[in-house]
Amino acid sequence: MSDSIEQIECLIIGSGPAGYTAAIYAARADMKPVLYEGLQPGGQLTITTDVENYPGYPDGIMGPEMMDNFKKQAIRLGTDVRFGMVTSVDFKNGGPQKVIVDGTKEISAKSVIISTGASAKWLGIPSESRLNGSGVSACAVCDGFFYRGSDVAIVGAGDTACEEASYLSKICSKVYMLVRRDEFRASKAMQHRVLNTPNIEVLFNTETDEILGDTTVEAVRVSNNVSGEKREIPIKGFFVAIGHTPNTEIFKPYIEMDESGYIITEKGSSRTNIEGVFCAGDAQDKIYRQAVTAAGSGCMAALDAERWLAAKED
Ligand code: NDP
Repeated sequence: MSDSIEQIECLIIGSGPAGYTAAIYAARADMKPVLYEGLQPGGQLTITTDVENYPGYPDGIMGPEMMDNFKKQAIRLGTDVRFGMVTSVDFKNGGPQKVIVDGTKEISAKSVIISTGASAKWLGIPSESRLNGSGVSACAVCDGFFYRGSDVAIVGAGDTACEEASYLSKICSKVYMLVRRDEFRASKAMQHRVLNTPNIEVLFNTETDEILGDTTVEAVRVSNNVSGEKREIPIKGFFVAIGHTPNTEIFKPYIEMDESGYIITEKGSSRTNIEGVFCAGDAQDKIYRQAVTAAGSGCMAALDAERWLAAKED
């Protein structure tokens, strides 16, 4: 191996709550972690506003500020946080793991923690990005509370959309569920729950044309794709729940994943099918997807990596 290749004990890929928590634990365990932030430093929380459900912040905290705090804590404890994007890997059982950053820099890591997260899918209409964070959200559990007592709409027909519609129905006065086909994709149990909630109105064959409002959401214009009928529905919040894409593409040739690209970890641990490669956060979680669960799994990954390295050196 060439002398110019940097040797790292613990490489963390991704800078959301999972990555920074892994970094905090790895640094305290003297594993000298190096963390690459990726394309969206701070992860999904940097595009939300108030975070009111992360324990320890009685008055809530803004998402970007919280991630800045995570970063400061990781750095103070000794993490080498770097701006850069891991562009390819070459993993082998037991390592060392070859990792390429920004297409050029090669690193050799004894252990790797993947915490690259997932990205919400969006409809792709201009008003959606213009009003993102001002009434448009991809996380009902994060942002639903801001619309308590108001009317909201949610687009999607899978388990996530049904779960989030049920959640919103408890806080909001009315929830319009916009379903593009004439049926749900969600499991029967979830469908049943939605259809039996009096303040959820499901609009089948309905597509979103535009979200209306200058600075905040005021209404949504929808059209029925069978009858062609258009209507405007006054709402304060517009939620998109049409799925997420885990940011795991570069690991595909090496790491076991489910059909949607979520990394499979051993039950009750962060271990992947490659010894020495661990995974935490939304890259392996399509169910909970919360900052606090991601942080918890980041802690698990650092502890698993530490134990694995210690056992290897025995
Ligand atoms: P899914 O991929 O299952 O569903 C996405 C939904 O969004 C589909 O109904 C799809 O419509 C709709 N959609 C996609 N693009 C658009 C668009 N441009 N306009 C309108 N609608 C659109 O994603 P989920 O996030 O719901 O679920 C992901 C996985 O996680 C699933 O396997 C699910 O079972 C699982 N899950 C399980 C939970 C649990 O067990 N408690 C909770 C949440 C998720 P169409 O049907 O027409 O394609």
